[in-house]
Amino acid sequence: MYQLRGVTKQYRRDKATVDALVDVDLTIGDGDRLVIQGPTGGGKSTLLQMLGGLDRPTSGSIELDGVDLAKLPEARLTTFRAESIGFVFQSFNLIPTLNAQENVETALVPLRLKAAERRERAAQALESVGLGERLGHLPSEMSGGQQQRVAIARALVKNPKVLLADEPTGNLDESMRDEIMDVLETLWKEHGLTFVMVTHDSSIARRAPRIATIRKGRITLTENSKAV
Ligand code: ADP
Ligand code: ADP
Repeated sequence: MYQLRGVTKQYRRDKATVDALVDVDLTIGDGDRLVIQGPTGGGKSTLLQMLGGLDRPTSGSIELDGVDLAKLPEARLTTFRAESIGFVFQSFNLIPTLNAQENVETALVPLRLKAAERRERAAQALESVGLGERLGHLPSEMSGGQQQRVAIARALVKNPKVLLADEPTGNLDESMRDEIMDVLETLWKEHGLTFVMVTHDSSIARRAPRIATIRKGRITLTENSKAV
């Protein structure tokens, strides 16, 4: 479970200070699905980075299962990210010279598994996103939707506690968008993981049980009775 208390994040730009998050309190239970929405520049990506331990707040605490990420030493934060957090981005961030299986394996390198086990688990993860036939394909040989499925397999292959997605459908056309949302929702149900997703897409937000809206760094939470 995540427990954020009084999380504030300021960036310095030239001589000015930007308040990206202002006194954010937020609880996210194990297995919850939360959508984050709001205008560009509101602080959505910053919040996701805080949840994933990619950056630290200026003040406040970010506890995951009782451990305050804001206070973890850098080396432990790196290990935490490698073991516990799966990230999916708008731009798929695949390595162009590696095939699908090798891209997924990169997530397992910090876990020090044997090469054969890495290969096997990567193949299974690609199977679970419907790409079992494309292990040897390079990113350039796949559609956008397929590339995003490789990125999802890479995020999930380590069995993370938490899946964080920043506009995962932002670069996809409508049919691929639905396909990716189906894959994400199926995996969320199967793995029982905590799933936090930033999206501009109101048709996707409407499906989530809980919606956090962030404007000018301030958060408002809405329970959604029409969730599916
Ligand atoms: P969103 O994801 O909602 O578009 P962001 O979290 O990216 O919002 O940004 C929130 C605010 O913080 C914006 O004003 C943005 O320009 C600023 N910001 C984000 N990251 C940085 C950074 N690394 N350095 C300086 N300003 C930043
Ligand atoms: P996208 O959602 O399209 O991937 P974002 O607008 O969320 O892009 O920003 C991508 C990254 O750039 C984020 O890590 C964010 O913190 C950073 N960023 C956003 N605004 C600024 C800024 N003004 N200066 C520096 N970095 C920024």
